[in-house]
Amino acid sequence: MFSKILIANRGEIAVRVIRACKELGIRTVAIYSEADRNSLHVRLADEAICVGGPKAEQSYLNIPAIVSAAEITDVDGIHPGYGFLSQNAHFAEICESCNITFIGPSPQSIRLMGDKLAAKDLMRKTGIPIIPGSMSAVKNKEDALKTARRIQYPVIVKAAAGGGGRGMRVCHNDVRLISALMTCQAEAGASFGNSDVFVEKYLEEPRHIEFQILADRSGHTIHLGERDCTIQRRHQKLIEEAPSPVVDPKLRRKMGELAVRAAKAVGYATVGTVEFLLSKDGTFYFIEMNTRIQVEHPVTEAVTGIDLIKAQIRVAAGEPLGMKQDDITLNGWAIECRVNAEDPTNGFSPSPGRIEVYHEPGGPGVRVDSHVFAGYDIPPYYDSLLAKLISTGPTRQDAIRVMQRALDEFFIEPIRTTLPLHRQIFTDPTFWRGQLTTDYLEQLLEEQE
Ligand code: ADP
Repeated sequence: MFSKILIANRGEIAVRVIRACKELGIRTVAIYSEADRNSLHVRLADEAICVGGPKAEQSYLNIPAIVSAAEITDVDGIHPGYGFLSQNAHFAEICESCNITFIGPSPQSIRLMGDKLAAKDLMRKTGIPIIPGSMSAVKNKEDALKTARRIQYPVIVKAAAGGGGRGMRVCHNDVRLISALMTCQAEAGASFGNSDVFVEKYLEEPRHIEFQILADRSGHTIHLGERDCTIQRRHQKLIEEAPSPVVDPKLRRKMGELAVRAAKAVGYATVGTVEFLLSKDGTFYFIEMNTRIQVEHPVTEAVTGIDLIKAQIRVAAGEPLGMKQDDITLNGWAIECRVNAEDPTNGFSPSPGRIEVYHEPGGPGVRVDSHVFAGYDIPPYYDSLLAKLISTGPTRQDAIRVMQRALDEFFIEPIRTTLPLHRQIFTDPTFWRGQLTTDYLEQLLEEQE
């Protein structure tokens, strides 16, 4: 087992990893930027090192500074969290070359799955359904138009190296496709350092269903059921639940088996997520694999009783899984709300500033994963996630009722947050019925205008 781990991240996930390490008896090193000096992860870790300026490129993405911090503090593992360097194959390689375990997948798995086109190609060869579209990066506009004619509009242009809902455009005709091609290529080049884009069929009103994978270094691979992440804004998740209201045991078995097959095809040996879109007629397609722990992992922890961060650390240390697929049972229901420092009444504009009042909900069935507190200054440099509020109950209705009362107990003032929007969604009859599609939130917001 590791004796000391450096957490190459910030915010709630850094706090989450420190908590798991403490319970495992592992010492922790936090890294922080000049803007995060007073952050909670810095206070909770055993040691903390400033790695650079406030911008992510100067600190949380600054590989030489992070590796130096790891060497100075003599850690034997680095946990990358999510975002930042978590899916950077080069960083994983450097860690290994310094004899520090990267607590995540191999550089090869990261590279393969980090390229959505290569991943789709591998999945097709593995017998996993993929969405029809380009087989390689779009060469020019004729190439894109040809693909669109073959698969028919609507289509979606996507960045091969994309993530976080960026670099994607839905198109209903040739004119839109040509302009989307250029904007996506430019956006992809600027955001991901790779301007490759591809075209695929845009599925109308699907649900986003993803499977949690857990694998060890000797090839034992299981899934921990699904999460339904259909409630999104601009292709970014806002509310997630486990299980899904539309996945029955038969579908779970089928999709779960394919998710495990997908993970095995890349020699996967840690936690990860295989994402699918489920269309109205019940057909489903692989969209991508996320080779890291995900923001929404707590809902899976709640229904399986498995601590995913501890499991991730254990398998990275070479321990066997110690459980089989048949050992996994799903109990009850869990829902997660992402509480962001954004103003939902003003186009979700960021709302940085000082939190004067902060009161977290509690009581039975409530979990809050957060790094903020009263007196905390929200830096403008990073993502806007302030807290994840997770509710659990024996049934979906119970979890909804727990969430409703927990939302009412949550005070974060005076900054704007997504709390009022969550309160509204949890009273909406369509949400209660679970009749959701990825357009649900945009429609709800439109109705309000
Ligand atoms: P990212 O890597 O940026 O998160 P994904 O490929 O995982 O992008 O897609 C994010 C979301 O975008 C999906 O959950 C879905 O809502 C939407 N999306 C992506 N591809 C399609 C598609 N072909 N048809 C319909 N919606 C899609």
